[in-house]
Amino acid sequence: MSGKLHFYRKQFSGCVSCGKCCDCGWPVPVTSEEVRRISSLDFQEWSALPRSCFKRTLRGWYLRKQADKRCVFLDSDGLCIIHKKFGFSAKPLACRLYPLDVYRWRDGSISASLRYDCPAVTGAGRMEPFGKLAGTIEAFAAELFRYRGRDADAAYSRRIHPDVARLRRIADSYRNILMYEHIAPEIRFSAAVRLLLFHSIRKNSSDILEAEEFEADSFAFFKRSIEHLTVLVEEAEKIRHDQLVRFRYLIWCFLRDDSRATWSAHLPMVFAALRFLIGRGTLKPTLLNREVNAEALFHAVWKCRRKKEAPEVFFRFLQGRLVSMHFCGSPALGLPFEYGMAYLLIAWPIVIFLASVLAAERKDFLIGPDDVRNALILVDHGFLRSRLFCRRSTKAAVWNLMKGEDYAFLMKLCLHQKVVS
Ligand code: SF4
Repeated sequence: MSGKLHFYRKQFSGCVSCGKCCDCGWPVPVTSEEVRRISSLDFQEWSALPRSCFKRTLRGWYLRKQADKRCVFLDSDGLCIIHKKFGFSAKPLACRLYPLDVYRWRDGSISASLRYDCPAVTGAGRMEPFGKLAGTIEAFAAELFRYRGRDADAAYSRRIHPDVARLRRIADSYRNILMYEHIAPEIRFSAAVRLLLFHSIRKNSSDILEAEEFEADSFAFFKRSIEHLTVLVEEAEKIRHDQLVRFRYLIWCFLRDDSRATWSAHLPMVFAALRFLIGRGTLKPTLLNREVNAEALFHAVWKCRRKKEAPEVFFRFLQGRLVSMHFCGSPALGLPFEYGMAYLLIAWPIVIFLASVLAAERKDFLIGPDDVRNALILVDHGFLRSRLFCRRSTKAAVWNLMKGEDYAFLMKLCLHQKVVS
């Protein structure tokens, strides 16, 4: 395979055998060839296994689940039966891949990113030598193409469809801005939001397709805006009530647990969400699982300080997404570039808010790397899986929040946190 490989090298991965990927009810797709191959293996020692470990749905074959939603092949010791008895290579492709996401794009390029909701990526994993991983990624890409039968693709927006290489140039331009370490993250994020809004205006959108010096122009735009944005953020007024409701809604989207959603659980969740939106409920029914309401969220952000190294994992995640472009197109719920980017940009204040809750719970009000890591595990989990992000209402919520001073006010709260060495 000859496609160019896009993968952020400075990432960590190494299974910590936590079993999270196999016991939380996510549907695990398998090919009919895998169904045949695994069904022919000898599992006699495991008499409790059902006659068929696979189920067919309208969308294809999936691994069966146990009554408690754990994978049918997950043993009582938390290990995979297929892996234990027949080795890693015998497992379905979806299991061998995790927490890696691999895509082959329509221009032949290959991209890979890591799922930051996996503790192997955010926690105790070890660095894989990239040279070794590159071969694995290419082999996975070839296998995936056989499995999916189509390449990944993305549009910039509903109206604009540049080729993949052009989209990568635009993603690189955002990367140059967001990784510019000499300026506080909140100002970088504010500049990226401005750039995104600028190109959402029809008369400016031709830059996306044509501007020869897009990277240089956007970086110059960023440098020119720093002073203005710093004043805007520092002087931002309180968030408007309707925007506050939108922000609560987005927090809920990121924290909503889709994996075990059943029809009987759906209605109480809708009521719980509505209560939280109007300021009465808490985030107890979400993946955060804390009795914290919206007011307490803001209070925690206001009171917390931040260790200098705390956001490192978030920026590793961000680089990984920007290099691979796995925030848009078929890799990410089919989102167009501009909406996928908008979700990435709103993820920063949400991660800081959640990390603040975790620090406030300890009563030391000092955000450390573990708080950001644990917040990111939740946020990335939601972003990768919740269909809520495809909804028009969710897209409109994030877009509205970015306009005007409301995003600036969220940035002001985050910027207010003193950074300590
Ligand atoms: S087949 Fe094995 S690795 Fe895959 S989900 Fe089931 S237990 Fe986990």
